[in-house]
Amino acid sequence: MHKVIIIGSGCAGLTAAIYTARADLQPIILDGYEPGGQLALTTLVENFPGFPDGILGPELIENARKQAQRFGAEFRSGAVSSVDLSKRPFTVTAGKEVYETQTLIVAAGASARMLGIESERQLLGRGVSTCATCDGFFFRGKDILVVGGGDTAMEEAVFLTKFAKTVTIVHRRDDFRATKIMLDRARANGKIRFLTPFAVQEVHGVEKEAVERVTLRNANTGETQFIDVEGVFVAIGHDPNTKVFRGQIQTDDAGYIITHDGSKTSVEGVFAAGDVQDHHYRQAITAAGSGCMAAIDAEKYLEAHTL
Ligand code: NAP
Repeated sequence: MHKVIIIGSGCAGLTAAIYTARADLQPIILDGYEPGGQLALTTLVENFPGFPDGILGPELIENARKQAQRFGAEFRSGAVSSVDLSKRPFTVTAGKEVYETQTLIVAAGASARMLGIESERQLLGRGVSTCATCDGFFFRGKDILVVGGGDTAMEEAVFLTKFAKTVTIVHRRDDFRATKIMLDRARANGKIRFLTPFAVQEVHGVEKEAVERVTLRNANTGETQFIDVEGVFVAIGHDPNTKVFRGQIQTDDAGYIITHDGSKTSVEGVFAAGDVQDHHYRQAITAAGSGCMAAIDAEKYLEAHTL
């Protein structure tokens, strides 16, 4: 039986791994579908403290992984297919392996929703981004597109006007899901224009490995048009990776795990960290901080409740 199993190897899971390994709890980390989490999909990270020249997302993740391994953390590949949290020890099934553990740290993250176009995937990190805070800085003086009609799209569009020459918000309907205040703020910004009802049909620039333009299709008439942009920010929401925990851990309506008193969840002995429980900040540094909290909470719990 294990003392700690950590589900997810993004910033939150890796920080929890470093702390629990240093506390001699010999954590097992289950990598999941996206080893390294969202940082593994980004390029330069310039806002993680301690790296004055920035650091590549995959390099940051690889360093943290090695750091955890140095203290005895063990990584296993494979995604979790089911968990039983009804009794301790908890059981976690990943592939053919069934693990028993006294505590569980859920750091399974959230995945940015994507449009599902092949060229969008190919240009991710090359002009296509899902995070304005992370990548906005690289678009100084450029024309960019923000896709989406919710609060995130409005917030990211307004944020991006600090850098971009122009920001075009493209939304598939004429009505917006965004709250009035956020919509009004975007509408009042002279650098932002709205194009509705349009869907992004194609992102061009795969050969040059940089976004050059997009094809938009009018959702009512089917007519298409081009727009020249160097950046496409996909802001159509995130989905927390909590399917396997449904019905076992309390979540909010959107599926994010509800935490209280630090990283505690509705199940004693189960802790949550990172984007799986945070749809507000969603930063590498806040995920790392909450991973540290979960590790300390798990350690304290084990001190009081070892089976
Ligand atoms: P959201 O409210 O679910 O909005 C997602 C938007 O993306 C919708 O307009 C949706 O269009 C569009 N969309 C979804 N799938 C699409 C697709 N395949 N192709 C094109 N468009 C697509 O998500 P969110 O904006 O990330 O917000 C999530 C939650 O966080 C909300 O409760 C929001 O209020 C909150 N939030 C608050 C703030 C703030 O207050 N500062 C900031 C950000 C987020 P349809 O409308 O047509 O479905």
